[in-house]
Amino acid sequence: MTETAALRTAPLRARAEIDLDAVRANVRTLRALAPGAALMAVVKSDGYGHGATPCARAAVQAGATWLGTATPEEALVLRASGQLPDDVRIMCWLWTPGGPWREAIEARLDVSVSGMWALDEVTAAARAAGRPARVQLKADTGLGRGGCQPGDDWTELVSAARAAEAEGLVKVTGLWSHLACADEPGHSSVDAQLDGFRAMIAHAEQQGLRPEVRHIANSPATLTRPDSHFDLVRTGIAVYGISPSPELGSPADFGLRPAMTLSASVALVKQVPGGHGVSYGHHYITAGETTLGLIPVGYADGVPRHASSAGPVLVGGKWRTVAGRVAMDQFVVDLGGDRPEPGERAVLFGPGDGGEPTAEDWAKAAGTIAYEIVTRIGTRVPRVYLNERQAG
Ligand SMILES: *Cc1c(COP(=O)(O)O)cnc(C)c1O
Repeated sequence: MTETAALRTAPLRARAEIDLDAVRANVRTLRALAPGAALMAVVKSDGYGHGATPCARAAVQAGATWLGTATPEEALVLRASGQLPDDVRIMCWLWTPGGPWREAIEARLDVSVSGMWALDEVTAAARAAGRPARVQLKADTGLGRGGCQPGDDWTELVSAARAAEAEGLVKVTGLWSHLACADEPGHSSVDAQLDGFRAMIAHAEQQGLRPEVRHIANSPATLTRPDSHFDLVRTGIAVYGISPSPELGSPADFGLRPAMTLSASVALVKQVPGGHGVSYGHHYITAGETTLGLIPVGYADGVPRHASSAGPVLVGGKWRTVAGRVAMDQFVVDLGGDRPEPGERAVLFGPGDGGEPTAEDWAKAAGTIAYEIVTRIGTRVPRVYLNERQAG
């Protein structure tokens, strides 16, 4: 029995089930929305908490031809996994001086370059490796975070990259940028950024660069702005079936299905009198005689402490609310006199169609976004993969 097969049947304290059929279906849905563009599945931060390699594999099975990570280390792990087709393109963008440029070149990664220090380091590494680096120049078209500023900085970077290309040290495979406000319907900065991006592309192409791909769209832009798709869309959260923002729509509105279900095994059910304080600080006091259920997951598992007295859990067919503080390893729910058996499954979130809350519900309860809810599920929670497919 494989490890995951054993976990699937073992009684577990907690588990995060990842439905790889949902990942595949989401990728197919996104490809249909951006038919003229290649699809990059963004699997940074361990696939937004879902497991980078299994999700990357499922995404590739459904037609993703690119994978994206933030750090080079994440990208190198994917390439070394031996579980992905050799020709899948892997891009990483968050570099710091002294990064593993040479390893990246040897692993055939596409690396992002935002400024002259990075171009200098990557060309030196290419010289040492004796083969060209695949470089994608990143433009800041208005996000005000990473990327090269338009104007003199862009002119200098483009011309140096063109010179390095002429020397055979790099191949500029892409020009790219990132949007600031695509998750806010109708935000005027999107048009401004698209205009800026087109201008920065035009300059680079006039200088002789011939990128394979030009890309700027994240999940919200992929879902709502076809004019942002260019040659490639970089979808992260939507691959995992979560809407980038509730204002844009629900997952179902876009034909997406959440892939992760987080559940725990009820550890204890007991009767307590009225007036009984519950959990650290006694922020919850029972209103009358009732039953309490102990749910054995806490903030160390990624259950946000900010969802104390607010987070929803499905136990015994009913939504219950976290009673008092979320502790490191556990929290309590007021079962209102119900007496489910210890070992009963408590579902914190899932796709929502079994009556359970969603990651979005937890995001609201904690005052955050669903990205943070799924990404922070801790390493102590085993990931159990459903619908794994070996072929491909
Ligand atoms: C994380 C990330 C994405 C994916 O964003 P989603 O909103 O999850 O689709 C795309 N591009 C870059 C540069 C990112 O860092």
